[in-house]
This record gives sequence, structure tokens and C-alpha cells, in this order.
Amino acid sequence: MSNENISRCGLMLVLSSPSGAGKTTLSRRLLENDKSISLSVSATTRPMRPGEVHGKDYHFLGADEFGAWLADGKFLEHATVFGNRYGTPSHLVNDELIRGRDVLFDIDWQGTQQLKEKKRDDLVSIFILPPSHGELERRLRNRAQDGDEIVAGRMAKAADEISHWPEYDYVVVNTDVEKALADIQAILNAERLRRSRQTGISEFVGRLV
Ligand code: 5GP
Repeated sequence: MSNENISRCGLMLVLSSPSGAGKTTLSRRLLENDKSISLSVSATTRPMRPGEVHGKDYHFLGADEFGAWLADGKFLEHATVFGNRYGTPSHLVNDELIRGRDVLFDIDWQGTQQLKEKKRDDLVSIFILPPSHGELERRLRNRAQDGDEIVAGRMAKAADEISHWPEYDYVVVNTDVEKALADIQAILNAERLRRSRQTGISEFVGRLV
């Protein structure tokens, strides 16, 4: 990363997409490649899928518990997606940003809108698109763990989700994972170099001249 010796405040990187656009793989790869990013682990009322880990993939909560977290003001944003409730716990976010670490959010357009209202200056939002209608359909059919009904529901919702692309700062078409990843990393690198985020720049310049 450039300007490594200059302190900066972190940014909030939001990735949204219709399901089947490859966002989960991109998020995972981004976190592996770039150690300055922490993942925001959401809370959800949806049932755990095989292979998922409580506290790592999501905080899996019962409906009552989710309601209690909400009533206690623990969420930065929350939404109902495909009939389940999802929310971003706020506690991690501010701590990470102050420490100069970036936070990655895998949330939908409703959550992005709420974060935009609350945290516009810290937010960098990217919408991931699948390469074609046919490829989206193929990827959704290949998801073994989801039943036909869920797949059909998600297909119907995909167009709806995609209609929100104009609300995002950047749009990346995921034709090739490596290329999409490089595009996201390029966005991230440029956004980190914004003058407003380089909180240590005055001090650095002061030492130069
Ligand atoms: P899944 O249940 O397949 O993991 O996620 C379904 C959808 O919910 C995805 O579009 C995902 O981005 C979104 N989502 C996951 N966590 C949150 C959250 O905390 N807030 C919002 N608004 N959406 C979320």
C-alpha cells in the first residue's frame, strides 16, 4: 500500500449485488489479500447454512434476540431481505475506522442507503454485476444448498436488486474474478489516497519543508 507511513482514517467499503454475482468470493479474496480490512459480521435471523460459522459468517440470532439488539440501538443499519432480518452491529465500525483500518460490508441496497445517510464521508460503495443474464441464472441454479423455491425467489428478486445500481459510487462487472478483484483493489487504493482520509498529511508535509 502506498503512503504507508502517513496515518489515515479508515473507510467503509460496501459491496452489494444480486445473489449469484460472485460477491461472497470477492469479499473473501479481498480480505485474504489486504490485511488492512476488517469484515463487518452482520446479525441475521435466517437459519445457518451448512459450513457457516456463528460469529464468523453471521451472528445467528432468534427473532426475539434480533428485536432486543434493535431496541438497544446496537445496529448501524438493518433491513429485511428475502423474509429474514439482517443488521450491521455498530460497535466494531467506529473503533476500526479510528485505528485507520477499513471495514468491508456485504449488505443490500437498503442498508447502503441507511449508511449513506449516516456516514456519507466514510462510505465507498461498489455494486457488483454478473456478466450476463444467462450466467446469473446458471450461477443461481448451481447453488446446491438452496431449494428450488428459494432459487426462484432469488431470480425474481435479482432484477429488483440490480435496479439499484445507480445509487452506488462504482459498478464492477464480475466476468472474471481476478479482474474484478483488481478493479475493487484499485478503487480501494485510490479512495485511501483521498486527501481528506490522510489525516497525517499535514504533519508529513511539515517535516518535508
Ligand atoms: P445471505 O442470506 O445470502 O447471506 O444474504 C442475503 C442478502 O442480505 C445479501 O444481499 C446480503 O448482502 C444482505 N445482507 C447481509 N447482511 C446484511 C446486513 O447486515 N444488512 C443488510 N441491509 N443486508 C445484509
